[in-house]
Amino acid sequence: MMTWNKFMTFEDVELSRDLSGDVGGPSTMNTHLFLGPVVHTKDNGELEIFKNGMILVKDDKIVNVGEASSNMDATAEKITHLQKGQFLIPGFVDCHIHAVQLPNLGIGYDRSLMEWLEKYTFPLEKKYSDVEFADRVYDAVVKQTLNVGTTTACYFASLYGKTSAILAVKALKYRQRAFVGKVNMNAARDDGYCETTEESIQATTEFINDVTSFGDPLVKPIITPRFALSCDMDLLTKLGQLAVANDVHVQTHVSENLSEIQLCKEMFPECPNYTSVYNKAGLLTRKTILAHGVHLEGAELEILKNRKTSVIHCPTSNTCLRSGLCDVKRLRSSGINVGLGTDVAGGNSVSMLDVMRSAIQVSIHLSFSKEEYEPLNYVDVLHLATLGGARALAIEDQVGSFEPGKQFDALLIDTNSTNGPLKNLSEWDVEEELQRFIHSGDDRNIAQVFVAGHQVK
Ligand SMILES: [Zn+2]
Repeated sequence: MMTWNKFMTFEDVELSRDLSGDVGGPSTMNTHLFLGPVVHTKDNGELEIFKNGMILVKDDKIVNVGEASSNMDATAEKITHLQKGQFLIPGFVDCHIHAVQLPNLGIGYDRSLMEWLEKYTFPLEKKYSDVEFADRVYDAVVKQTLNVGTTTACYFASLYGKTSAILAVKALKYRQRAFVGKVNMNAARDDGYCETTEESIQATTEFINDVTSFGDPLVKPIITPRFALSCDMDLLTKLGQLAVANDVHVQTHVSENLSEIQLCKEMFPECPNYTSVYNKAGLLTRKTILAHGVHLEGAELEILKNRKTSVIHCPTSNTCLRSGLCDVKRLRSSGINVGLGTDVAGGNSVSMLDVMRSAIQVSIHLSFSKEEYEPLNYVDVLHLATLGGARALAIEDQVGSFEPGKQFDALLIDTNSTNGPLKNLSEWDVEEELQRFIHSGDDRNIAQVFVAGHQVK
């Protein structure tokens, strides 16, 4: 029988334990002091910069953060002095990424959602019954996303629970904070990429147990009905009950494309709109995230606000698959929290930087046809990609900004990187360097990546 533990080799387990500091024997205190500019956003979305800043990290957590002062305790086992052009920001939170679809990156953007799913996506996802294939792709996904600064990823895997658990193993191996979901689909399909309700619930229960049994809070299972069109109300309701019983997160798609919304209304005539399908199934909680939400009606915004359910904005995907222009400002002014997602491979890049830029551009395009509309700027998208995403996933008490007691998930940005796109031919202050990085930087400017205090790049 195929199992994930075939791939959780002795070496992987040891590596994972070493990195998590979970090795037997007395725990050794590990302190790391960073001296230099520190940049993050506050709860209200405002930018905060400590120009002569410091962050003291002990093991996985931030102990102290602020302006460095001459009378501060500067003793630490390791001290990093940031160089000119370098600064720290919180790690990126990618709230919506289909790990399985990485092989399809860049393919099929001449189609719209429903066509693209049938032509490219489902045939690829069927291949994940193959353990070796799953192992190879998931290994690449975690390495690639860490390299571009994704310290937390919320993943869709495939229909197959046992190979989906390999993705959780990879996140543990390389120390990425992750939510991993085995996809649920019980609508009958000619190609057999579907399951019965009983199979779906049993495999999901086993998947939750498998991931939980790893015993590492860095990686958690998430219940993942693909979208309303793939599941009937019975399955959706049972998944909602499973989420409550196991106190786990839920992720799915909502209101991405106009023909999808029309099909949803035909499939669930008893529900007045797309969101109410999930609401009826008991799937909407503070720990639920819904990707896209491009065409949400006013009544749907009200439901989401009341349920404290977040929407994940996926601007690259919405453009590539011609789904529409999502108005993030409308969502936020309706009291809905918003995070960002790459939506690989509907989106054409694994990089959250690309998504942040796309969010700005979509917002600017919206502003052309709206009076007095102030589009999103670099501060807004930094907030969405860090603390906004953390709040969407209900982990804002752990990550998303630099606060004492939070986990140290951080990126050391270097605008001086010799082979990167930014050339320092002029003098800039820290906020200007931040702008340059967000608008024109890439992974070559992400010099170091930390997850839970451990350097993973
Ligand atoms: Zn998606």
